[in-house]
Amino acid sequence: MIKKEIFDIAEYVPGKSIEEIVSAYGLEPTSIIKLGSNENPLGPSPKAIQALVNVASYANIYPSADAIELREALSKYTGFPVSNLIASGPGMDGLLDGVCRLVIERGDEVIIPTPTFAYYELPARACGGKPVFVRRNQDFSIDPEKILEAASGRTKIIFLCSPNNPSGNLLPENDLRKILENTTALVFVDEAYVEFADRNLAGLVREYDNLVVGRTFSKVFGLAGLRLGYGIMPEWLAKEYIRAATPFSVSLPALKAGVAALSDTEHRKKSIDLARKGREYLKEKIPFKVYPSQSNFVLVDVAPLKAKVVTQNLMKKGIIVRSCDSFRDAGDNFIRVTVGTPEQNEIIVRTFEAVKNEV
Ligand SMILES: *Cc1c(COP(=O)(O)O)cnc(C)c1O
Repeated sequence: MIKKEIFDIAEYVPGKSIEEIVSAYGLEPTSIIKLGSNENPLGPSPKAIQALVNVASYANIYPSADAIELREALSKYTGFPVSNLIASGPGMDGLLDGVCRLVIERGDEVIIPTPTFAYYELPARACGGKPVFVRRNQDFSIDPEKILEAASGRTKIIFLCSPNNPSGNLLPENDLRKILENTTALVFVDEAYVEFADRNLAGLVREYDNLVVGRTFSKVFGLAGLRLGYGIMPEWLAKEYIRAATPFSVSLPALKAGVAALSDTEHRKKSIDLARKGREYLKEKIPFKVYPSQSNFVLVDVAPLKAKVVTQNLMKKGIIVRSCDSFRDAGDNFIRVTVGTPEQNEIIVRTFEAVKNEV
């Protein structure tokens, strides 16, 4: 009964959980440092926590179908009118699902510059789409010409990630313009980490009618467990999106916590500051080549050592980081490390040193 496209979907590999490490190595749960999934080490905003407590006894009530309260708060935060904003659950992943479901028919194509975030190909394949992978340059930048050459009459979406996961580099505005101006496909720019960066690309939604920008509450806002995201898109597309989307996809707790998190400028600033300082510290101190990052993680090249081996040795010592060998076209020498608190970062550096000497 299962559609044949589904069998082409490789299983999504998430970062390791604390429970997995506890059972694999018999460590104390409280001693484990989890920096493999780019979560916020400060936790959620205290205002979001209070909003969750306050909303608990209303769990029997449906949320608003159009998440208008949250979209109004997002309007203030982004400067876009609510007509350009879609709130999505579960997470930005839900927005990716919604956009794919809207435009991809069996036999259509999507373009994915690798290595990058692994989820894009899942909803595309589930809709019968075929991913076309284009390798990034050595420094992880994209070549707009190569991407445009890979496009065909059946290309429906081009996925671009800025800052890119796992490499941390930004997409230059001119590269994006070049692609937008030379394709009729939708261009989906994933800005999951944009608050940690020096620039964003959302302003271009005002100029181009084929640009969608995806954002999330999972990273800087520390609400990954609530599964809340949003999209900034042209009004014509937002109207159609609502037609095909799951109603009430944003749960009431997610909606209330999202509004509260947006109001907590102090927590957001603290989170950004922590990531910016920490990534410089890690870049300087980790005893391997570390790439410059515009995000809350850094990419470490452990060559000639294998990422899997180093990751496992770090894990035995209670540190969870992400080996990138499961990322398509990333090779087997890269590890992604989430920036932690200053204390955690010191431990990370010390443990990397120890593992380097042992392996
Ligand atoms: C974490 C992440 C997302 C997913 O965000 P959710 O809102 O948690 O679904 C999307 N894109 C990138 C690049 C990410 O790293």
